[in-house]
Amino acid sequence: MKAPSFDYVRPDRLETAIEFLTEHGDDAKVIAGGQSLVPMLAFRLAAPRFLVDIGRISELRRIAIDTGGIRLGALARWRDIERNEELRRAHPLLVEAIRHVAHYQIRNRGTVGGSLAHADPAAEMPGIAVTCEAKVVIAGRKGQRVVPAAEFFTGALTTALQPDELIVEVRLPPWNPNRRWAFMEFARRRGATPVPRQSGRPDRVLVVDDDPQICRSIADMIRRHAPNVETEIARDGFEAGAKVESFRPHALVLDLMMPGMDGFEVCRKLRERPGLNHVRIVAITGFLSEDNLKRVLAAGADACLGKPLDSERLVAELGLAAQAADAAK
Ligand SMILES: Cc1cc2nc3c(=O)[nH]c(=O)nc-3n(C[C@H](O)[C@H](O)[C@H](O)COP(=O)(O)OP(=O)(O)OC[C@H]3O[C@@H](n4cnc5c(N)ncnc54)[C@H](O)[C@@H]3O)c2cc1C
Repeated sequence: MKAPSFDYVRPDRLETAIEFLTEHGDDAKVIAGGQSLVPMLAFRLAAPRFLVDIGRISELRRIAIDTGGIRLGALARWRDIERNEELRRAHPLLVEAIRHVAHYQIRNRGTVGGSLAHADPAAEMPGIAVTCEAKVVIAGRKGQRVVPAAEFFTGALTTALQPDELIVEVRLPPWNPNRRWAFMEFARRRGATPVPRQSGRPDRVLVVDDDPQICRSIADMIRRHAPNVETEIARDGFEAGAKVESFRPHALVLDLMMPGMDGFEVCRKLRERPGLNHVRIVAITGFLSEDNLKRVLAAGADACLGKPLDSERLVAELGLAAQAADAAK
């Protein structure tokens, strides 16, 4: 799919950007590195009439370190952070976390402000901002306001930002050198095994995940446990919708955290489709909180599992433990 058409403006000054956002409200969207917004446009999850490119507002690129802490301008890119030795000494946790963001191509373009505004719960910067009690500085038509990170994020992919506002910088309190810390990330590299079987014919499992490697590893496990089970993969909610029609799965494994997609909404939409109410849906997520669990069950999933996945648990949640045991004989 291609992005819907839009008009493009590239102001040099913060005030001009705010004036434009104030005038056009929800019709205008800020673009920084474009690493999240461009895929959303391509999937038509966003269709603003105007893109306001803030890339030329040089004051937003600033990185400052002093006794009051660290200030990262909204346009500070991941690579500016990971390559900054002074920053590494001033805030080792931040630099270590940012090294885990995506691939270097994305780290060359993606920005701190973009990540905070996008508010993907799987992203590193929002997690660091909340953990380290950062404050987000927001500018709008009424001037500036400073919002604690814990209040800035109001849910998955949602924030306290108003349509006429943009993020100017994030402030991290000074690093305590006596602090003991570690950063561990559970990357999506482990698969699991749905193995349904029904009335003597091969069963079908649809695996929905944006990472093809994970889909393949899940499919491989399925083949190991039950060679007769067919698998199909879908990389996002749209593809899943189409494959549900053509492949007619008996079970679905669905990643809740697909970039640019609300997995809860995908789950709800799939569940509402005619003929899908008897299909077992098992959601998987990197961040399994009580709230996540409640929401995804309300959206229609049968179960929700945290990553890294336990394949036996997944098979059990899919109601396939007996079949898997048969296949193992
Ligand atoms: C394949 C892939 C893998 C990725 N993996 C990771 C990962 O492992 N970890 C991770 O953290 N991120 C990951 N990302 C996301 C990446 O880090 C993006 O850089 C980031 O989410 C958004 O930053 P951006 O500058 O590109 O924002 P954009 O895409 O330009 O904008 C994103 C959103 O923020 C808004 N916005 C941007 N700047 C501002 C601002 N200053 N004020 C208000 N609103 C603003 C836009 O309107 C838009 O809604 C990945 C992206 C891709 C494509």
